Amino acid sequence: MTALDVSVEQVWEWLGEVADPEIPVISVVDLGIVRAVRLEGEACVVTITPTYSGCPAMQVIADSVSAALNAHGIEDVRIESRLSPAWTTDWMSAAGKAALKGYGIAPPVQQAIDISGLHAGIRRRAAPDVACPHCSSPHTQLTSEFGSTPCKALYKCLDCREPFDYFKCH
Ligand SMILES: [Zn+2]
Repeated sequence: MTALDVSVEQVWEWLGEVADPEIPVISVVDLGIVRAVRLEGEACVVTITPTYSGCPAMQVIADSVSAALNAHGIEDVRIESRLSPAWTTDWMSAAGKAALKGYGIAPPVQQAIDISGLHAGIRRRAAPDVACPHCSSPHTQLTSEFGSTPCKALYKCLDCREPFDYFKCH
């Protein structure tokens, strides 16, 4: 089968089944990193914007997308990465944000993006106020800039004492 035999809608549906490698409960579509799908002759071209430009998971994501479409019979898959405009949490679906919270990861806070965006050259910046994904308490503390993966920071809730990952955005 080639891309000639499928519709763009069908490809989006298949991509909705591709999990983010770092957060298995959320798909790359719900995360908002798949920006466009187009069919060019027999090829399927998928445009991806990483959550931040140095995201080490991007190659894994590109491979997962290719593998998923290959599995559905599309042989010619091209991945294009687009760095501008930069990914924002606005691109995450409501279902994606809810899944993230259910998984015990605090969703990205808009404030964090604004700060890093405005002061891109300044490495030190205020840690964002992140609500605890377990008890929703706003009393949390950054314990490490790096959580289980480079895309996450480790926080601790001062009320329920639970540690949690915060999905940060650069
Ligand atoms: Zn808590």
